[in-house]
Amino acid sequence: MKKLLFCLFIAFAATLIAAPDPNVDLSKTSMNVKEDLEKKLVALDLGIDPKASAAEIYSKITSYVEKYIPDPKYPDDKLSLETIKQCLLAAKNGDYCIGALIANEKGEILVAGHNSQKSKNRSDYHGEMFVMNEFESNKNFDSYRKNLVYDKNLTLYSSAEPCPMCTIRLITTELNSKFVASSDDDGMTSRIQHLPRIWRDNSTRSTREKANCSPALSSVAHILFYLSVFDAFRDKNSEGK
Ligand SMILES: [Zn+2]
Repeated sequence: MKKLLFCLFIAFAATLIAAPDPNVDLSKTSMNVKEDLEKKLVALDLGIDPKASAAEIYSKITSYVEKYIPDPKYPDDKLSLETIKQCLLAAKNGDYCIGALIANEKGEILVAGHNSQKSKNRSDYHGEMFVMNEFESNKNFDSYRKNLVYDKNLTLYSSAEPCPMCTIRLITTELNSKFVASSDDDGMTSRIQHLPRIWRDNSTRSTREKANCSPALSSVAHILFYLSVFDAFRDKNSEGK
């Protein structure tokens, strides 16, 4: 009986201490093959079995995210966490795990949303595009825009570095942006110099930077995105068989 109680205590203690290393940002290295994802799932230190189903993995990450308290050491932690909550909603619908929001200078969220490409059958429904569509469709926000250009005090947050399509729209609207996860292959921010000259020139009118958030949140956002990508490929492969 004593042995059983001891084992239960150890199992309980393990759940209490299971948390990503707050000093390690797993999004700093790229994710090329599924084995990279499996290694990072273990390194995330949430007691995840990398061979478990995507649903089980999402469930473990969701319970970590739900309990996470923003760290005041990081000014972007609160809004970064919100983008991750949004991307978990995308995962529930079977969409790619990207969440986004637009906040004002007080950190108040004006609109939030997530990728819904697969569930809504819309190629343009990336998380960033979705929130910009919502923003531009809402008359209450007209005062935040002059024609196509957004107010300089607004910032778009997204859980991962924006892709080429979304980057071009951010440049067009001159909307400043921050992203939670970033690796060498994730997005367009590090490749602005490859754009045609007019886009390069216009890009100087807005900023693009990594959010100043906890490395643990960057790790979670990075893993969630690639989990949804690899899971989609798995579905595609099995459909053809
Ligand atoms: Zn995009």
